[in-house]
Amino acid sequence: AAGSHVPALIIGSGYGGSVTALRLAQAGVDVHLVEMGMAWDTPGSDGKIFANTTKPDHRSFWLRTRTKQPLSNFLGFPLDKDVPRYTGILDAEEFGGITVYQGRGVGGGSLVNGGMAVTPRRENFGAVLPSVNVDEMYDVYYPRANAGLGVTHVDPAWWESAACYQYARVGRKHAQRSGFPFVFVPNVYDWEYMKQEAAGAVPTSALEGEVIYGNNHGKKTLQKTYLARAAATGRLTVSPLHRVTSVSPAAGGGYTVVVEQLDTGGNTTAVKTVTADRVFFAAGSVGTGKLLTRLKATGALPHLNNEIGKGWGDNGNVMCGRANHMWDATGKLQSAMPTAGIDNWDAGGAFAEVAPLPTGIETYASFYLSITKNPHRAEFTWNAAAGRVELDWQTAWKQPSIDAAKTIFDRINAKEGTIYRTDLFGSHRIWGDHLTYHPLGGAVLGKATDNYGRLHGHPGLYVVDGSLIPGNTSVNPFVTITALAERNIEEIIATDL
Ligand code: FAD
Repeated sequence: AAGSHVPALIIGSGYGGSVTALRLAQAGVDVHLVEMGMAWDTPGSDGKIFANTTKPDHRSFWLRTRTKQPLSNFLGFPLDKDVPRYTGILDAEEFGGITVYQGRGVGGGSLVNGGMAVTPRRENFGAVLPSVNVDEMYDVYYPRANAGLGVTHVDPAWWESAACYQYARVGRKHAQRSGFPFVFVPNVYDWEYMKQEAAGAVPTSALEGEVIYGNNHGKKTLQKTYLARAAATGRLTVSPLHRVTSVSPAAGGGYTVVVEQLDTGGNTTAVKTVTADRVFFAAGSVGTGKLLTRLKATGALPHLNNEIGKGWGDNGNVMCGRANHMWDATGKLQSAMPTAGIDNWDAGGAFAEVAPLPTGIETYASFYLSITKNPHRAEFTWNAAAGRVELDWQTAWKQPSIDAAKTIFDRINAKEGTIYRTDLFGSHRIWGDHLTYHPLGGAVLGKATDNYGRLHGHPGLYVVDGSLIPGNTSVNPFVTITALAERNIEEIIATDL
């Protein structure tokens, strides 16, 4: 309602927003969480909330009339198809040189991601967030984040014999035969549920290939963890299908926040104004980076410093597939939740996730998403003439990532006598170098903000999401985003409230 006042408004309901909501609510603060995506709590006409990976429909993409699947081709055939325009769950946001995939809805990226919950190796943390106390992170905040997210390891004995992880065991064999460290990776999926799926006792989700358009069962998304606990305090109000478009200082103190209400076609049906004492930017690296860049450039928040929009990176993401010999079948049943990685970070600057290719048929393919040490950093800028924020990432900047990934897969291919797949990304390409799942940076900790996420220049404004992290985490990012949010909100509650 126009003219309403809230003590704390959070923009976005991903990891940073959910941690902030829970901890503020537990501290006795009434929290208003504004999320541009849908609530994802109501089944569609097929009885399911989320669409299957192999059958994308209107629920799958954010305001597109044609799907833009990360794996665009298979066996040379294009996979994309027309869908009705809808406020679907996965946004394939296109900038000049890169497509950035992001979750849209209450729960943010937790709705669409692979659940891989990886804490970086302690010796690598200094390069991730140099101004943060390493002991505090590893003694307090990483354990708190892992507990809050419900992170657990797969039962190794079950994994060794489960048909749905044959692809991962082939990945291990090939990694180890080439001398690479193979590591198990924890996940937020409910492993007991997956065992029941495998036994045919419950409706399937990960074993049905569900992941990037949502999991109907099994995955402990933020809806089931942090946000459920925040709601249980009675102090949380969530507004789905509401998008924040402006934040500016209010005459009587605090901030005026302009919010558009959307319908499921993406049209604005109402514009609302709220006054908030404190505003927490949790719109994700791209959402927060774009919003702050525009608000600074257009004078809404004139005192933000020149670090706004800078330090953006893609976590070095690059994908590839390998064609195995016929005796290395990867299985027609593949769990959509990855459990394993190849760690060549020290020697080659690459950590490769052994990823599923859940097509339902035997492909003899091994598929990998590598996280690499890519030095390139892009910047968000305001294009006043076009009225939009741009990102100056260039496709050629993926070359260091390809080179790093090749330190693993060239060696495995040489050892195994195998080749790269060229049928997954179109135009006979080997490398999926056109995208990232892991946007990071844009309002970097200790630069655009102080060492706890307080934005310079405007007291009462905070950044709490992945935009604080300068471009790379050396592993999958959401545990680090969660742990950093836990660290920062503890300090903010103790000092600012
Ligand atoms: P997000 O989770 O992106 O949340 C931001 C929220 O803000 C979104 O819900 C968005 O809709 C909302 N928003 C944006 N702008 C506005 C606005 N103006 N007004 C209102 N709301 C707004 N990471 C891992 O660690 N492990 C994995 O296995 C993994 N797999 C992935 C697979 C896929 C397909 C994708 C896309 C990502 C994956 N990630 C994974 C990355 C991980 O999900 C993200 O790093 C994480 O979600 C980022 O958290 P965040 O809090 O910064 O923002």
